[in-house]
Amino acid sequence: ATPTSIMVGTGRAAELGVLFRKGDALQQLDEARVVAFDKTGTLTKGHPTVTRIELAKGFEHDTVLRLVAAVEGKSEHPIARAIEAAAKGMDLPEVTTFTAISGYGLQACVEGRDMLVGAERLMTREDVAIDGFAGVVEDLTAKGQTPVFAAIDGQLAAVLAVADPVKPTSRAVVKQLHAQGLKVAMITGDTAATAQAIATELGIDHIEAEVLPDGKVAAISGLRERFGPVAFVGDGINDAPALAEADIGLAVGTGTDVAIEAADIVLMSGDLAGVVNALHLSRQVMRNIR
Ligand code: ADP
Ligand code: MG
Repeated sequence: ATPTSIMVGTGRAAELGVLFRKGDALQQLDEARVVAFDKTGTLTKGHPTVTRIELAKGFEHDTVLRLVAAVEGKSEHPIARAIEAAAKGMDLPEVTTFTAISGYGLQACVEGRDMLVGAERLMTREDVAIDGFAGVVEDLTAKGQTPVFAAIDGQLAAVLAVADPVKPTSRAVVKQLHAQGLKVAMITGDTAATAQAIATELGIDHIEAEVLPDGKVAAISGLRERFGPVAFVGDGINDAPALAEADIGLAVGTGTDVAIEAADIVLMSGDLAGVVNALHLSRQVMRNIR
């Protein structure tokens, strides 16, 4: 690659809101065979809301929501902001002990009650029975929503449905990447049924779901073995190792500083059209050089 054509390419990219942080990024992007996306905050807006609260027998709405929201007040996860918003105006109790279990959810003590809030695998891990909720879970995951399980003193108290709509341009971006002959994959910690529903909505052909935070790196190398060089697009703190592992890492500019620092390319806006713009540019520049 000649330095001049790369400079022209990266200059043009800046006008399109794409920042190349490394000199060989244009070349690397041109060589990618698969584009893998993080789900939450990358393909989706990352501002979820609670759409439904299904209570177990003997539990009361305000009592449960107040305790769950208090626990979520200690969490950094986007789901936590959704649940806090659902409890807006409520007087929240103090949380005495709190642990975030990466990839599972939260464990805490509130007003002497042992609380567990998180994914189904957290309930399985802590031996909380969730039978009776299979229908509810199936229904909401089929809509692409995430079930959040809440247990109080070892009893399942409620399942909260959390919806995080896809960004308006995500579907078109997937289509354009396919048109360029690329494989498109999604990597998420979310449950398989939810991931499947979102992937179907977006036309994504390959899903890696229920990936624990430190499993994202392995998911990237697995994709590389199957398909070839991988471009990964992510936004979160937990995406940084995967951004570094990928042959080319693209951070969403609205994401965390940690992700941006780990990336080769930064999309200045949250719009994923930047991925397609960057790709077109890399194709143009590399074609001119050859
Ligand atoms: P992701 O953000 O990609 O879903 P995480 O590893 O952060 O991946 O979380 C995995 C799963 O654990 C989430 O999909 C969610 O079900 C659950 N979880 C994590 N943090 C919380 C939280 N604060 N409240 C409820 N559930 C949570
Ligand atoms: Mg994310």
